[in-house]
Amino acid sequence: GTPTALMVGSGMGAEKGILIRNGEAIQTFKEVKAIAFDKTGTITKGKPEVTDIVLVNDVKDQDILYFAGSIENGSEHPLAHAIVEKAKNQNIRFGEVEQFNAVVGMGVEGRVDGEIVLVGNRRLMKEKNIPYEEYENELIRLEEEAKTAMLIARGEHLLGIIAVADPIKEDSARAIALLESMGIKTAMITGDNKRTAAAIGKMVGITHVISEVLPDGKVEEVERLQKKYGTVAMVGDGINDAPALKQANVGIAIGTGTDIAIEAADVTLVRGELTGIISAIKLSRSIFTKIK
Ligand code: ADP
Ligand code: MG
Repeated sequence: GTPTALMVGSGMGAEKGILIRNGEAIQTFKEVKAIAFDKTGTITKGKPEVTDIVLVNDVKDQDILYFAGSIENGSEHPLAHAIVEKAKNQNIRFGEVEQFNAVVGMGVEGRVDGEIVLVGNRRLMKEKNIPYEEYENELIRLEEEAKTAMLIARGEHLLGIIAVADPIKEDSARAIALLESMGIKTAMITGDNKRTAAAIGKMVGITHVISEVLPDGKVEEVERLQKKYGTVAMVGDGINDAPALKQANVGIAIGTGTDIAIEAADVTLVRGELTGIISAIKLSRSIFTKIK
């Protein structure tokens, strides 16, 4: 009967690094028509590193890393960790931070030694009236290299750009190709900008790229995919992904991700390898053709 099959399924899953929290998921997997992936920490390793620093006029490397690092020291975002690491490697000691504030989907702001400092995307600079348009070509160049470019402002002026690259997981492209060959559509949902998202999408073979999505918007995007395709799985690792994991017919968390995502999901990919999804689908298809 089904309970035995589910137990067998769970055992086989555990062997392949798939932890099943909700037994129903094993049944649902075989119905999945489309899978949506978060970008950072799901398709990529979630360990961005600083690759480029573009400075305005006579600003120094040390200055931009001091101000950006001081503010980002208060943020949990992977982008923040990259900047803080870079600053620490250069033996920069951070300043006194007040009024720290994370601006959802845009970046961070606060005062460093009393001066207002902003670190974030174009949206943030527009909102705070910091001119950056002169650097648009630099931003585009970096983004087309699949990098995330952050603008740094001190007071009313731009200090420059810090760009980071987040390496793609070894098996992401293979997982996407296998899913597509099984007739399953793939999509990526990210808060990152459209060019970076498109570049990453191209590198792993995802054509349907949904970018510049605010944290609350991921649920809506999953709903849209459900209307279009029917049964949809969502894969993610972040706190922001949790509501979308719940909305999906199968929520899949990355084992190395946040506890909130893991608790919201039906299954966990323990080692974070996306090819685990293929094992789960094959398992589901085989179990439910055997028992009738
Ligand atoms: P994601 O998890 O896909 O990166 P977020 O909503 O967390 O989505 O972030 C969207 C965008 O907001 C980032 O790509 C970045 O441009 C900006 N951002 C968010 N947090 C920070 C931060 N701590 N420092 C700089 N920029 C940030
Ligand atoms: Mg993520």
